[in-house]
Amino acid sequence: MNTQTKNEKLKIRESRAVPFGLLNSKQHDIYIERAENSHLWDADGKRYIDFAAGIAVNNTGHRHPKVVGAAKEQLNYLTHAAFQATPYAPYIELCERLNHLLPGDFQKKTYLLSTGAEAVENAVKIARAATGRSAFIAFSGAFHGRTMMAMSLTGKAKPYKNGFGPLFPEVYHAPFPVPYHGVKDDDALEAIENIFKYSVDPSQVAGIIVEPVQGEGGFYPASKYFMQALRKVCDDHGILLIADEIQTGFARTGRMFAMEHFGVAADIVTMAKGLGGGFPIAAVSGRSEIMDQIPLGGVGSTYGGNPVSCAASLAVLDVIEEERLIDRSEMLGRKIKHHFEKLKEDSSLECIGDVRGLGAMIAIEFVKDRSTKEPWPDVIKPLIRSAEDHGLILLPCGVWGNSIRILTPLTIPESVLEEGLAIFEKCLRSVVAESGASL
Ligand code: PMP
Repeated sequence: MNTQTKNEKLKIRESRAVPFGLLNSKQHDIYIERAENSHLWDADGKRYIDFAAGIAVNNTGHRHPKVVGAAKEQLNYLTHAAFQATPYAPYIELCERLNHLLPGDFQKKTYLLSTGAEAVENAVKIARAATGRSAFIAFSGAFHGRTMMAMSLTGKAKPYKNGFGPLFPEVYHAPFPVPYHGVKDDDALEAIENIFKYSVDPSQVAGIIVEPVQGEGGFYPASKYFMQALRKVCDDHGILLIADEIQTGFARTGRMFAMEHFGVAADIVTMAKGLGGGFPIAAVSGRSEIMDQIPLGGVGSTYGGNPVSCAASLAVLDVIEEERLIDRSEMLGRKIKHHFEKLKEDSSLECIGDVRGLGAMIAIEFVKDRSTKEPWPDVIKPLIRSAEDHGLILLPCGVWGNSIRILTPLTIPESVLEEGLAIFEKCLRSVVAESGASL
């Protein structure tokens, strides 16, 4: 008799059908069959609380009835037409809505794509076309995607760039300010001045691309001072400021867009993930006068702004407004932070080095020693495994791989959040006790 579970059978099939490189970065050995709001169920029917939200995609929860309803309704009319060939209304409506929502007291224009990396690639093309310059400044620890230019802008060699070179030239990395690890705002700003002095004249720089809260790199929020200083550097030198809001957008940080925290408007903004609420879509927006420099026919994509994804995205924007998810993000973030701050005070959990984030984009960073802040990445895998066993899905992040990011759907009921936090605490305590590293 075959006693293998459905999950085990799928794991074997996966290992034969899907390349190892993809599997190796996978955090979980379960296979999701069904989801609803903040819950997932695997192939064997086990229930999980979702603290990952499909990597910040399901801000409006899994299968929100309004989002699913809008997509189903659209299926009755049109599933594909290629906007550049034969345009359609939901695409235009979504661009109008985004132009209206984005920060900045100026006219904006938008077009739609399918993935975050594609939005980043397009932002680069727009900045080059608009400025006639070629160089870019990005930050250490940044993540902008896995296509060639996005990968070149990404600020972590392994595993993102190693073996995939040559990378694009004319990308210069400055350190991202992370005061917890000794990199102050002024250190990062000085590094940019040094790039201008030693590597590339600012007159050759088309754009500076920045995540307002560094995502994959460790959920490190930029400061208002830093973001305003970046804006000034750009203004002083005619450089375009590009905000990568792919992970931070759509109410995740307690604002519709994270840049609103800093009172700074970017010239170009990239968006994806939370916009579609589970349907693939991305967008790039910018000042009208910049966007209108794109040469005729110079950008576009067959599937960009697929009508079903547009309908879903319009419903996502309605849900964010109707369910006050921006306020909810702040409230959830406060609760999560408070819970972890309390754990941090516990003398048996000295391994919690830092708790940080904006809105409901929170990370908890583990260290071997609070005074040296030496990263403790070895706790992450057992913690994720233990949480999975106990019915909680967690995701890691951080350049040292020593942080857990909390990305609950913003629609998560408070009772489910509390249940998830209790599982987290229980698993952390047992993993720390087992490792003998309760410092
Ligand atoms: N930029 C940021 C800030 C991201 O977080 C991501 C995805 N994690 C990307 C770009 C790339 O998006 P995608 O995976 O959709 O290409």
